[in-house]
Amino acid sequence: MGLRDALLDAWALLLPVECAGCGEPDRALCGACTALLEPHTAVRATPGGLRVVTALRYEGVARAVLLALKEQGRTDATAVLSRALRAAVDRAVGDRPRVEVVAVPTSRAAYRRRGYDPVTLLLGARRERAARVLRAVGRSSAQKTLGAAERAANRRGAFAARADLSGREFVVVDDILTTGATLDEAARALRAAGGTVVGAATLAFTPRLHAFRDNAASGDYGGAKGVN
Ligand SMILES: [Zn+2]
Repeated sequence: MGLRDALLDAWALLLPVECAGCGEPDRALCGACTALLEPHTAVRATPGGLRVVTALRYEGVARAVLLALKEQGRTDATAVLSRALRAAVDRAVGDRPRVEVVAVPTSRAAYRRRGYDPVTLLLGARRERAARVLRAVGRSSAQKTLGAAERAANRRGAFAARADLSGREFVVVDDILTTGATLDEAARALRAAGGTVVGAATLAFTPRLHAFRDNAASGDYGGAKGVN
């Protein structure tokens, strides 16, 4: 093996060589996948009635790229995902000047495993530091395998505020809106400390949500497409 091959191998170790969205040889997200990550904000709601603005559908390329960021260290996807999250956060905040953005805390184990917190990373890329007012306290586990009601029960008591939040207003931010149990629990913890929660924002939403399908019939949510 020549010097050139050795250098290329070293280069491949240093930089990603496939698009995080589709796997095409590239050093970052390809143009086609970047275009698919254009945000389309929509307003949804949690079971607890919290207004949530989402930017992307959690499927296809968006799902692949977010998983690549979360599980494969593909932080080169940060800029594009950050732009989508910013669109959702901006709409959730609206023109309220006093609102603070607070990221749903990740567990210590997840932070240790990744070395970074994806939501804070996405917020940090827009130079907006999330208010560090919540901490994870419960031992919530294996949300993926649980139904909507079980998720809510699993999440209850998962977060606590670090301080008295009287007089402060918040928008809660997370990466994926699934059933909404996590956002509801974060809102509960903020309100329990005296804070006001004006809404939430997530990068993406899971199109096939049990809670949304159940509630679509009541006209509250407008089904998987959301309401604007
Ligand atoms: Zn691609």
